[in-house]
Amino acid sequence: MSLAIIEKLAALSDKNLMDIEKAKEEGVKVAGLYCLYAPVELVVAAGAIPVSLCGTRNEPIAAAEKILPRNLCPLIKSSFGFAVTDSCPFFHASDLVIAETTCDGKKKMFELLKAYRPVHVMQLPQNQEPDKALPYWRRQIELLKERIETEFKVEITPEHLSAAIRTMNRERLALKDLMDQAKGRPSPVSGLELLTIKHRLSFLINKEEVWALLQEATEEIRQRALKGESQFTESSPRILLTGTPVGLGSEKVLRLIEESGANVVVMENCSGYKKAFRVEENGDPLGAIAAQYLQISCSCMSPNPGRYEMLGRLIEEFQVDGVIDLGWQACHTYLIESHTVQKFVEDNYQLPFLQIETDYSDADSERLRVRIEAFLEMTGQ
Ligand code: SF4
Ligand code: SF4
Repeated sequence: MSLAIIEKLAALSDKNLMDIEKAKEEGVKVAGLYCLYAPVELVVAAGAIPVSLCGTRNEPIAAAEKILPRNLCPLIKSSFGFAVTDSCPFFHASDLVIAETTCDGKKKMFELLKAYRPVHVMQLPQNQEPDKALPYWRRQIELLKERIETEFKVEITPEHLSAAIRTMNRERLALKDLMDQAKGRPSPVSGLELLTIKHRLSFLINKEEVWALLQEATEEIRQRALKGESQFTESSPRILLTGTPVGLGSEKVLRLIEESGANVVVMENCSGYKKAFRVEENGDPLGAIAAQYLQISCSCMSPNPGRYEMLGRLIEEFQVDGVIDLGWQACHTYLIESHTVQKFVEDNYQLPFLQIETDYSDADSERLRVRIEAFLEMTGQ
């Protein structure tokens, strides 16, 4: 009962790397992105290739720890490790890295990263106030546009930007459609399957192909639902996973939840629903990009009201039975915010809540499994 689209995407990864090499030979530029705040529309508008560089694997961490402190978020260490070992073909291909001053660890890591690639740092405001933060952030977007134009020797016109907004909106809407398939009860798709599809698609460079494949994935899952096929039952606990981003290689907690018989029906994080936003297509494109990206509800923002609004909406829409909050080790902003997230979930929805702090290694897997199994008993399913 495995999904054919997952096999298809695995087979496409080698071709995708060859496509990048070929495009670079033809003079197309590549921009590496680490964070959801990086406005991908500017890269697309420049006719360049955006690639995701966020590290989700444990293997490069040892190399990173020769330079970075061990007591640092594994996502940062993994990302940096890939760079120092030159073991990520996407980093290797990047002509420019787009970085943001989100958390302390990441912004200091970006300073070191400048030894390996040209890095443009966007100074992210610490709050989302429309009167002060938005004009400041808009200026940062303009500065990024100027840097891309200089670095890639192109002109980014308002028409290019508007077209890029439409392209990315179409992709994000298709992504939302895909994630929404898990609203069925029982859900016809596991959280791990959805993560695998999204992760593999995030590396493909052809936007038309990504859009078509997203639709193909959604249709295959729809057909499964029509046939009444599911690995879950109506009483399988439905879990919302919130907190720090997750990808293939760092899916330990998601995997443990589903191995314990529950279904991660929705992820409220930067690998899940936070990605499914829409940029206004009418009016000033740079202003629309600035306004929408500033609304991203990362714990680096203080305060961060959008996270609670999205959590409440997703809990209701996906009929969630419990919330698990994943914080990568030493990620102060998410780990501190966990307290208010717990209070929000318990006070407003009377749902069980579990916080997990871990890293990318398997050292604590069995201990986590015991905690997760005990937690799932509290969901009453
Ligand atoms: S969690 Fe925050 S810092 Fe991390 S990718 Fe998302 S927006 Fe960026
Ligand atoms: S998980 Fe936390 S510490 Fe790690 S990069 Fe994201 S915000 Fe920073």
